[in-house]
Amino acid sequence: MSLNLVIFGPPGAGKGTQAARLQQNYKIKKLSTGDMLRAEVASDSDLGRKIQSVLDAGELVSDEIIIELIGNCIAGPDCAKGFILDGFPRTVAQAEALDEMLRKVKRKLDHVLVLEVDDKALVDRIKGRAAETGGARTDDNEETLKKRLKVYHDQTAPILPYYEAKNLLRAIDGMQPVDEVTALIGKTLK
Ligand code: AMP
Repeated sequence: MSLNLVIFGPPGAGKGTQAARLQQNYKIKKLSTGDMLRAEVASDSDLGRKIQSVLDAGELVSDEIIIELIGNCIAGPDCAKGFILDGFPRTVAQAEALDEMLRKVKRKLDHVLVLEVDDKALVDRIKGRAAETGGARTDDNEETLKKRLKVYHDQTAPILPYYEAKNLLRAIDGMQPVDEVTALIGKTLK
């Protein structure tokens, strides 16, 4: 039995934190496209430099690059017990590509967890994260966040009806404290 999840929500909703806990608690592999992209940037390759300018603008990296990044992972041995996708899919085209990838490896998604957080709270959270990490993420500033939020509402939120139609959506109150959100997710997965 494997457990195949997507964690979904606006920037700053707590996807990365909860995905790390799910990885730990359920022994499933966390696949974060944001982390993969930041690793590529850190390697200072030509591709990394191109990606950096996209991240700093708060735009989305092309579906083609993302699908290649994630496609190699899902079929890998690390995902034998399942996976939690953090930050992917972010467009309807990516959601369709994911279905195709899963079909090929004869797997399916079990749940799409949606962390619901007000836009206003997100600005404070991102400011907090920037302060905590000493500005490690160059896209954690108010201006880029506004752009990332707009991209989320325009391009990413339209995926929700796609998963709703498949009866996979599970809304989680992401305004609660971190441990409470983890507990709510745990209940949902039971
Ligand atoms: P995240 O760490 O998930 O907040 O992602 C940080 C940035 O990486 C986003 O603002 C996008 O520029 C880029 N990114 C991450 N995942 C994707 C994706 N699935 N599709 C396109 N761009 C992505």
